[in-house]
Amino acid sequence: MIGLKRVYISADLEGVAGVVHAEHTHRDGREHDAARRLMTAEVNAAVDGALAGGATEVVVNDSHGSSMNLLPEELHTKALLVTGTPKPLSMMEGIQQGDHYHCAMFVGYHSAMGRRGVLSHTYAGSIVREVRINGRMMGETGVNALVAGHFRVPVTLVTGDNRVCQEAEKLLPGIVAAPVKEAIGRYCASGMHPQRARELIREKAKQAMGASLQPFKLDKPLRLELSFLNSGQAEAASLLPGVEWIDSVTLGWTAPDAETLFRILRVLINLGRGL
Ligand SMILES: [Zn+2]
Repeated sequence: MIGLKRVYISADLEGVAGVVHAEHTHRDGREHDAARRLMTAEVNAAVDGALAGGATEVVVNDSHGSSMNLLPEELHTKALLVTGTPKPLSMMEGIQQGDHYHCAMFVGYHSAMGRRGVLSHTYAGSIVREVRINGRMMGETGVNALVAGHFRVPVTLVTGDNRVCQEAEKLLPGIVAAPVKEAIGRYCASGMHPQRARELIREKAKQAMGASLQPFKLDKPLRLELSFLNSGQAEAASLLPGVEWIDSVTLGWTAPDAETLFRILRVLINLGRGL
């Protein structure tokens, strides 16, 4: 509808300022509750910035792990929260619903497995070694942007460490980036005070409301190649009819569109868990 500017936020945890370790990101980690508060405050900053930039509605999807990280009572009162698991579209649940979104924003994101960066991984750190789509290596930023693109929504903001910001800028030229920490190693970073990180995110989210980016799309059909950490995981996932073996740890699948590709990717990862 004319005049409506709906904004979609997918919120992860590894890219939040001050977060560097599994003690922050695992549900039973000793620093997890502190990390949840930091995450909620950064999301609030993005919501605030989006509203200042003209957003009329902001939907926030809690996209980390069990999807029960954001503290509902402390979340911005104007935001709608998608929480709990499993969700049909996982980190992008909600992007498919309702009227078209003006843009999507990725908050607290991290770089892809195989790349440097704080807590880098791609969906499942103990299962996925690499995801390639049409021959290009993709992390969560790329795959999730492709899902947003399927629903004609451009991703205009990424926040996280300097590495994920570089990854996003390379893949999605014109995206507004808010680097809140510099990766020193996989489990260490030098970062700004959380309050300053929130100010930066608020300012960049406001700016991102005016960014003119096209929805991210690749030529169809989309070719997915998923490399697992070990051959047993690939064997378990190869039970899915239609899957092709590429090498001892890599399976292939050709999908007609990004939503189907995302669903197949998640099925393969879940089968790879061998549960
Ligand atoms: Zn993640």
